[in-house]
Amino acid sequence: MPKILIPTPLRQFTGQQNAVEVAGATVGEALGALTTQYGDLRRHLYTEEGKLRSFVNVYVNDEDIRYLGKDATPVHADDVISIVPSIAGGAAAETSAPPVTLSKEEVLRYSRHLIMPEVGMEGQLKLKQAKVLLVGTGGLGAPLGLYLAAAGIGKIGLVDFDVVDFTNLQRQVIHGTKDVGRKKLDSAADRMQDINPYVEIVKHEVALASDNALDIIKDYDMVVDGTDNFPTRYLVNDACVLLGKPNVYGSIFRFEGQATVFAYEGGPCYRCLYPEPPPPGLVPSCAEGGVLGILPGVIGLIQATEAVKLILGQGEPLVGRLLLYDALAMRFRELKLRRNPECPVCGDHRTITQLIDYHQFCGVPAQPAAEAAPQDGDIDPREVKARLDRGDRFVLIDVREPHEHQICHIPAARLIPLGELPRRVHELNSADEFVLHCKSGMRSAKAADFLRQAGFRKVRNMKGGILAWSDQVDPSVPKY
Ligand code: ZN
Repeated sequence: MPKILIPTPLRQFTGQQNAVEVAGATVGEALGALTTQYGDLRRHLYTEEGKLRSFVNVYVNDEDIRYLGKDATPVHADDVISIVPSIAGGAAAETSAPPVTLSKEEVLRYSRHLIMPEVGMEGQLKLKQAKVLLVGTGGLGAPLGLYLAAAGIGKIGLVDFDVVDFTNLQRQVIHGTKDVGRKKLDSAADRMQDINPYVEIVKHEVALASDNALDIIKDYDMVVDGTDNFPTRYLVNDACVLLGKPNVYGSIFRFEGQATVFAYEGGPCYRCLYPEPPPPGLVPSCAEGGVLGILPGVIGLIQATEAVKLILGQGEPLVGRLLLYDALAMRFRELKLRRNPECPVCGDHRTITQLIDYHQFCGVPAQPAAEAAPQDGDIDPREVKARLDRGDRFVLIDVREPHEHQICHIPAARLIPLGELPRRVHELNSADEFVLHCKSGMRSAKAADFLRQAGFRKVRNMKGGILAWSDQVDPSVPKY
């Protein structure tokens, strides 16, 4: 009897069998016998009208039967029928759009792909037709952007609203030193376009939020999640589940990383794994906890590999498996993940049917874009004093010269003379908030401008300098 090979995503309907022997003299009869035996499979392979779905390709002994008369193609006892569903080609594959081809230059560019049977011309065209949304162009987004562009993904959307700062360069290799102060979107897009001018790059300069996520994501085949905060994680997850788009997930912390593919063909989602976010502050971000610069390269490229595999329909996707990576031990582990029938967004009794308020859900205040944007605010010495007394978290920096510091200083202040700031800026964490002061406020205004140019977003200048401090706060401070 002819044998039908069942692709991984469809094995859930065949009791996890990867091959089924069926009776039948034609492809149509064999598939009919298969879907009679496994009824759930039918709607995945056939339309309501009984037509083979346009994103399902059927091969007989590696021969694409689309060109051989489809269902009527005869099969023999020792023939192997392969079902190859494409998730990236989508339903548009059979429309009258002009066939996608590769130019001579593209054939040359992708030749190392084209000579591999697992990719070949067919696979490269799938990559060219694929549309992938990259959320974040930071640590994970950097290697993702570089390699997905190089691989020839036809359309890559980028979501980011941040600017490049010096502390990013240790790991966000898509940005260069010359890009410090630029928008990450521009910096990343320029680099990707330089790697591969045949790729279309779409810039979404927004913070992904409940009111824009569905609209942005709906135009892509899948999302690759390179975010660094919990509200966006849950937002991306829910949006992907609601839209039926795979979510290629990766996360990093210090020396450890995780990767998996969520929301793919009935597989588990992020909420199945983590129904609730950790309490705010328990899991520090990279800015607070640190991260080995190389780590996002490893995890980001695992995500890139999974994205490309999903598009090609090759191999076993990282679905239902959570890959854990420990760089210090240099060890990978794999945990089984199952869809949680009680999951509020992908379970059997769904309670989340539209996007919610994710900042509220995660218990973290939303940061309005205005607050994240550069502030040209001065701050009064009295206000600085009040904030010091309250124990507010900010870094007070004295940009005067050491000899001036010897004359008088504010005990909480750290001395970095203006002239030394450019080469010592790496000592500062751009995620922190800074208040700068000098003698009268002129030099510190310059220093504040410099830091803002370098991508620091929360920088304020103490009005009137230490002279005003002496007048308003502490008369014991000598004026000079
Ligand atoms: Zn779920």
